Amino acid sequence: MEEGEAALNVALEQLKIAAEKLNLDPGIHEMLKHPKRSLIVSLTIKMDNGELGNFIGCRVQHNDARGPFKGGIRYHPNVTLDEVTALAMWMTWKCAVVDIPYGGAKGGICCNPKEMSTGELERLTRRYTSLILDIIGPHRDVPAPDIYTDAQTMAWIMDTYSQFKGYSVPECVTGKPLSIGGSEGREEATSLGVVICAREAAKHIGLKFKGAAVAIQGYGTVGWNAAKIARDMGCKIVAVSDSAGGIYCPDGLNPVDIYEHKSKTGSVVNYKGCKNITNEDLLTTGCDILIPAALENQITKANADKIRARIVVEGANGPISLEADKILYEKGILLIPDVLANSGGVTASYFEWVQNLTREHWMLQEVNRRLENKMGKAFSAVQKIAKQEESDMRTAALMLGVGRVSEAIKTLGLWP
Ligand code: GLU
Repeated sequence: MEEGEAALNVALEQLKIAAEKLNLDPGIHEMLKHPKRSLIVSLTIKMDNGELGNFIGCRVQHNDARGPFKGGIRYHPNVTLDEVTALAMWMTWKCAVVDIPYGGAKGGICCNPKEMSTGELERLTRRYTSLILDIIGPHRDVPAPDIYTDAQTMAWIMDTYSQFKGYSVPECVTGKPLSIGGSEGREEATSLGVVICAREAAKHIGLKFKGAAVAIQGYGTVGWNAAKIARDMGCKIVAVSDSAGGIYCPDGLNPVDIYEHKSKTGSVVNYKGCKNITNEDLLTTGCDILIPAALENQITKANADKIRARIVVEGANGPISLEADKILYEKGILLIPDVLANSGGVTASYFEWVQNLTREHWMLQEVNRRLENKMGKAFSAVQKIAKQEESDMRTAALMLGVGRVSEAIKTLGLWP
């Protein structure tokens, strides 16, 4: 099965589990299986060598019962409509779990950004924005960064959108640079939320967070910031990896040094004094807390049994298959699911949007205080359901998210 199809299967199965537990109206269950709207776009741009480059992209809007659609845009060679649909569905639950007034969406372009110049990426982003322009907007659908897109990408989207409108519309996109209305703390927010969840999970199982050994898969925005924040909070980072492989150092790594090494060499591997390991080794390495912060479907029935961490916190969306979920649960590993664990990013996006709409700029302390508050509430709410239902945290989080969305759908009623 192709990766995107696998991700969509996981998302649909998760919805089914929640629907059964909640005794969901079959009509609403059926409605939630499908996105409200999917737009596929064909993108042709001029490449630097003068030739034309052709790419396929999409924007999938899953549900907007609780507010405007919200979700990132991913640039990756494996992007498919199925994958983006799964990610859009997860955004719907995520926004509901952390209780921000948004629905869920996701966008993607199938491309290899590592082989493209800045100019090519800018032309691709602007072309994509022009083709989805009719269905996005500050009160319709608000994009944000995801894998291989960043604050600069968001700036190009804002500029393209604003040029079409004829006036500046900073609130049309989040995750922007600070100079054009971005929020303090947005870049690190997903990772801060992940580490807050890890800390709460440690408290729950009586594990001492200070000094806990942490392994992180993925050294992009989420992975590297999580390493930095976890270390600042006293954890020991024993292993990290990226798409080229990983490194292991039982005495603890300095995330900033590793970041500099990766910036110079293109990867975390071959760092002095560390043992090179594979991504597979990283997942099964001896540690207290494992943070998968890369792509979907990394922990499956093939390796779940070998996971040795006591806590797994999903920095990525959908890194664990359904079978692996069960295996981890039976092994007594506490799993903090993506829709809760990585909701700090979209929560800070919401704060950015509120600041843009009110033309205000909050201090970093204010953003982080509100983030801690939102995430803390969501964590307790999920924990409470898990206790009541005697379920794992994933089932509890999905029950909370799907339940809130279904409540909104029922309250709105149906038009016509
Ligand atoms: N791409 C991030 C996610 O998967 C952030 C989305 C957003 O801020 O809208 O949650």
